[in-house]
Amino acid sequence: MANWNLSFDFAAVMLIALMLVFFFDERMVPMRSHRVFLWILIISMLITTLEILATFMARHVDVVGYDKLYAVLSVYTMFLHLGPLTFSYYLLCLVHVDAFQHKVLGPLFSLCVAADVLFNLVNLKVHWVFTFDTAYHSSYGAAILYCLDTVVMGVAFLAIYRQHKGFAFLRLGPLLFTLFFVIVSAFAQAIAYFPMLNLMSAIVTLTLFHYQQNAGHVTDMLTGQFNRRFMGEFLNSKFAESAGFGVIMVAMDNFKYINKSCGVENGDELLRQVGFYLGGIRTPNLVFRFGLDQFCLVVDGRSMKRMSIIAEQIRERFRHSWAMLENARITMSASICVLECPRDARSYDELVDALDYCMGIAKKFKRGDITYAGELDFSRIRQEKAIEKSARIALDKRELLVYYQPIYSVLANGYNSAEALVRLHDDELGWISPEVFIPLAEKNGLIVEMGEIILEKVCAFIHDCDLANTAIEYIEVNVSPVQLMQANFARRVKDILEKHGVQPRQINIEITETATIGPSAVVYDNIRSLTEYGITLSLDDYGSGNANVEYLNHLPFTLVKLDKQIIWDSFKDQRAKISLEHTVAMLNALDLHIVAEGVEDEQTKQLLSEIGCHFLQGWYFSKAVPEDEFLRTITSAA
Ligand code: C2E
Ligand code: CA
Ligand code: CA
Repeated sequence: MANWNLSFDFAAVMLIALMLVFFFDERMVPMRSHRVFLWILIISMLITTLEILATFMARHVDVVGYDKLYAVLSVYTMFLHLGPLTFSYYLLCLVHVDAFQHKVLGPLFSLCVAADVLFNLVNLKVHWVFTFDTAYHSSYGAAILYCLDTVVMGVAFLAIYRQHKGFAFLRLGPLLFTLFFVIVSAFAQAIAYFPMLNLMSAIVTLTLFHYQQNAGHVTDMLTGQFNRRFMGEFLNSKFAESAGFGVIMVAMDNFKYINKSCGVENGDELLRQVGFYLGGIRTPNLVFRFGLDQFCLVVDGRSMKRMSIIAEQIRERFRHSWAMLENARITMSASICVLECPRDARSYDELVDALDYCMGIAKKFKRGDITYAGELDFSRIRQEKAIEKSARIALDKRELLVYYQPIYSVLANGYNSAEALVRLHDDELGWISPEVFIPLAEKNGLIVEMGEIILEKVCAFIHDCDLANTAIEYIEVNVSPVQLMQANFARRVKDILEKHGVQPRQINIEITETATIGPSAVVYDNIRSLTEYGITLSLDDYGSGNANVEYLNHLPFTLVKLDKQIIWDSFKDQRAKISLEHTVAMLNALDLHIVAEGVEDEQTKQLLSEIGCHFLQGWYFSKAVPEDEFLRTITSAA
């Protein structure tokens, strides 16, 4: 021991000292893992400094005496075994497991700590863990301690692995890797003393400090409050502890307008002030910046009374003005939602949905006021979740159905095309309307995959049933704006068509008017490459919103689909009839083909044919039906 090279230990001491300085320089992160990380730093520092001290004492053992050296070495050995235990405890904290509350890990951890302390104390008398003559020798006691450490780490490893659900692999990967590294290091330490171990441990700690404990990662730079990512982390651990807590969400009203009219700098200043004000509310709470103009306060405990006092206090503050730059002041309102967990949400994901739903209602009906989630009916979100789940399952199992509604050509006096309409059936929920599940799929991004599967099915149908040899010239496929915003959308469409040997002219893509409102460069690029490829485009639901002729002039549509509502209205109201006739005349003058939707009777068919609609679609002809029925419909009509 006396001849050990201490250079690596000195380097480790400096590294750990620096980490301690950085740790205290940054704000405290209110997580158990953060506090345990500090213990890791302290224990690493103690192990390394005690090792240095013991080495010096060993060099001068004649002066210092064996008793003192044994005492220092015992404390050193004790911390040496506490190191891996604390480290395992820390890793478990990161996956929201409190080892001391765990039914297997709890007793095991306690046993290891007790054995470590006891063995090293006893060692002062019986030298059972180590002996020292001219060098340090581990004995049987040490072997038992190492075995215990290994068992604890092994069990911790399993517990972490079992908790991995919900953790991105990248986050779990480094955890498992570092745990593995510590196990290997422990063996290296036991079998052959390796003087770089302290330095290596310090380097592992530094890596963790950067990736896991960096307060900068959890802070919102603008407001100095915690950021949304950390809110997820923090609340996941809160839900895991099953402790009750309240959430107060504050969303500034019309913030985008303020940003626009007063400038971004003033907007930033206001956000800073609101964050600062919320952070200063005198109660144990944490403030998170949840969205651009949204903050969330998490309040410990479940006292509704206390939460409503805080919410009212915030509402009151928003009745007064806020300072802007250059001494100007502005008054703005904020909508406030109060939720209680686990009553209103049992997990972080549920909470995000509940906040979204609650704030949606608040902004609609109680702007500038307080909305209590307890007074709302959350069954709608649960229903939506059930539908989302059902859509996901149908997608995975490829059980989405595509039905076809034939489209009648006035000129040919028969069917010339059809619209593909998706259908979803769930054993419990029954048939779910696309008007319900498509918007949900758009919200969660599922629509991209769903759209591809629908197109695949349509192409397979065109190819397998040889539609080219029937009167059906093309199939109209609905495409969501979200799909059009994908950079590779046109490429994917081409790939799918080519895979099934379908000609571009056999597909027509229906785009709703909303998709064309303020289209981005990506949407334009997709539309351009699709039309260059030979696919035609329809403008769907024309007349349902703010019909804007601009788009017809600027985008390469060949077909316009009149929304069923304007058709139906024209039979109820003379003025609506006149505008429909003029709309049809205008579209004809623009050389566009017209499909009228919602044709439910002979009279409508007659009128629409007379005023100049080229194609008709509706229940008068046929509803959307499965493939085989569709084939029968078109062949019997021929
Ligand atoms: P849409 O594109 O306007 O589709 C026409 C809707 O009108 C269909 O409803 C169709 O069944 C219904 N319809 C057709 N003729 C009549 C009629 O004479 N009377 C009445 N009352 N209704 C008629 P569906 O199938 O429920 O679809 C609703 C909406 O869901 C569609 O409106 C479309 O926006 C969306 N959708 C359907 N399939 C898809 C799809 O594959 N992809 C995407 N992105 N959206 C789809
Ligand atoms: Ca459509
Ligand atoms: Ca339509």
